[in-house]
Amino acid sequence: MMIITGSVLETVGAPIPFADSTPIAVRQLTLDPPGPTECLVQIEAAGICHSDLSVVTGDRVRPVPMLLGHEAAGRVVEIGSEVTDVRVGQRVIMTFLPRCETCKACRTGGRVPCEIGSVRNNAGQLFSGDVRLHDDHGDVLHHLGVSAFADHAVVDQRSLVPIADDVPADIAALFGCAVLTGGGAVWNIAKPAPGSSLAVLGLGGVGMAAVLTALAEPDVEVIAIDPLAAKRDLAARLGAHRTLTPEEAVTEGLRVDAVVEASGHPSAVGTGVDLLAAGGVLAITGLTAPDATTTISPLRLVGLALTISGCYLGSSVPRRDIPRFIELWREGRLPLAGIISHRIPMSALAEEINPAMDRLDRGEALRQIITVD
Ligand SMILES: [Zn+2]
Ligand SMILES: [Zn+2]
Repeated sequence: MMIITGSVLETVGAPIPFADSTPIAVRQLTLDPPGPTECLVQIEAAGICHSDLSVVTGDRVRPVPMLLGHEAAGRVVEIGSEVTDVRVGQRVIMTFLPRCETCKACRTGGRVPCEIGSVRNNAGQLFSGDVRLHDDHGDVLHHLGVSAFADHAVVDQRSLVPIADDVPADIAALFGCAVLTGGGAVWNIAKPAPGSSLAVLGLGGVGMAAVLTALAEPDVEVIAIDPLAAKRDLAARLGAHRTLTPEEAVTEGLRVDAVVEASGHPSAVGTGVDLLAAGGVLAITGLTAPDATTTISPLRLVGLALTISGCYLGSSVPRRDIPRFIELWREGRLPLAGIISHRIPMSALAEEINPAMDRLDRGEALRQIITVD
């Protein structure tokens, strides 16, 4: 058992601004040693993702108290007795959906989220079903098997992807969620052919990762769409061929071969369908509130032979896809540093974590990375 400092969400749906209502408390808690298939990881960097904010607001329903953070990189400092595929000292990326590799879902090549992993994630448990975080009042739950807004985390080896030492920690963290989700949607669902066009709806961390991944494909026209001018400007600087507001895209009658939806707004699904040319594919990555609905035209789907495909985690298999993304980054073709908007030292978490959620809520931040001083 060790004492760690972590960012614990204590209340869901607190009033905005979170800087005043402080739903997240940075405090000490105890972390049990790793179980047989688990590793103790020293966190090097963690990204703040919209899915963290969705837990704070209650759009994504999770039990509390919960130690947040699901996009991170670190170094393994202790391993359980049955850990076979990572060693002490190994650098790792943490991913937010552990895969058992044996259930029916895990045999779909990343298409369907692991059944056991999903059950454990929803319950705030590690893959084993155990909870390793505690305070004076009892258990503190794990966020998506990772809980990385802390100096250390215990995670199952099924949540880890080993990486080499040359990838800086802040970049490495991004591969775990933003790149797997946005880039995975491009590679695994949209699959743009040379000469085709691809639009990304919603330019947060996931959307920007989709833009960068699509730009790395040969001869694909990439259109970046967001209501916020600052995000469109950044997409243009990163190389997007065109930028538009959603209204402009609809009004001008834009038609593309693939759309990656990364906004989390239910209405964006309808917009995505409107923007597709015949035979087009819409990949939906955003997580809306559970009761959200939207309206689409069935006639367009049939008449234009459109495909709508939900894709959790970009339909990625982390150990298959992350090494390919890292190779692309090494070649200089995935300039991920451009999507980091803020750096927050771990030592300033207590003052910064709630304001960071406000910045994300107001659309003022892309990827905010918590770094070790
Ligand atoms: Zn995320
Ligand atoms: Zn599985």
